[in-house]
Amino acid sequence: MPKVKSEKKHRIHNEVQKQGIVFNKDFGQHILKNPLVITSMLEKSALRPTDVVLEIGPGTGNMTVKILEKAKKVIACEIDARLVAELQKRVQGTPLHSRLQILVGDALKTELPFFDICIANVPYQISSPLVFKLLLHRPLFRCAVLMFQREFAQRLVAKPDDKLYCRLSINTQLLARVDLLMKVGKNNFRPPPKVESSVVRIEPRNPPPPINFTEWDGLTRIAFLRKNKTLAASFKHSSVLETLLKNYRLHCSLHNIALADNFNIKDKVEQILNDTNMGAKRARSMDIDDFMNLLCAFNTEGIHFS
Ligand code: SAH
Repeated sequence: MPKVKSEKKHRIHNEVQKQGIVFNKDFGQHILKNPLVITSMLEKSALRPTDVVLEIGPGTGNMTVKILEKAKKVIACEIDARLVAELQKRVQGTPLHSRLQILVGDALKTELPFFDICIANVPYQISSPLVFKLLLHRPLFRCAVLMFQREFAQRLVAKPDDKLYCRLSINTQLLARVDLLMKVGKNNFRPPPKVESSVVRIEPRNPPPPINFTEWDGLTRIAFLRKNKTLAASFKHSSVLETLLKNYRLHCSLHNIALADNFNIKDKVEQILNDTNMGAKRARSMDIDDFMNLLCAFNTEGIHFS
């Protein structure tokens, strides 16, 4: 038998012996083995005994059982049926059992129920869509304490002119207050991931800003596609102008406005950027107020993003 194959077999055998389960890297399965990290995440969430807690990716339940001891109810969403069985086995016959609800499936495709708090050691490959799924969920939750890959966490909290400032930073910060809570090294996980991790707290702005998030996202996508370029340059692209023109036509027909024969979307955009003094600005240095003012100026002229 080739050597590599037999080594792999040996390794898998060891894993099975240790845990009864082989972790699947495709599902980002790196379980937290340090109980101090779990306790600390729970503390930072300021969990109340009356809270319903959402956990994404409970795995074998190291965190789940600790949350169950402190909360009214845990709703845990897990994609891997093998781990769901493990978790069920772990709570069966204990008083925790009746307060755990498991949703089997992909958290991104599952309709989430009401929850007060979200605590999770998140599978890193779903980090970004998960943050926005949580922040756009209604009614709003009180706070989320989440473990992410360190660079992703740094992007979440980055401010204008920081190296890692990006569309993720501004879109998240529009909807929430985000704080870095602590760094967590690779060796706190089994198996250790390739990257370092950090825990962040996300507190949704409540009430949420009176902004159409789809439009906001459309605007920041254009501006951050090349965050070091001026807005004037970013808005010159024909694909951008075509979309804006299509949206403007729709706006006109919805509002019974006749489209002028000499209407030119490029001139219109230039005029808005000049009137607002924004043409020379670059996304890398723009804050939330800058984007709010810009979106408002475009919308006032009937120009919408999608
Ligand atoms: N919270 C556990 C396990 C974290 S590993 C602990 O800290 O010990 C990440 C977990 O998320 C794994 O159990 C994995 O199966 C699960 N997972 C991966 N992708 C998922 C998805 N799209 N939806 C729900 N769970 C997912």
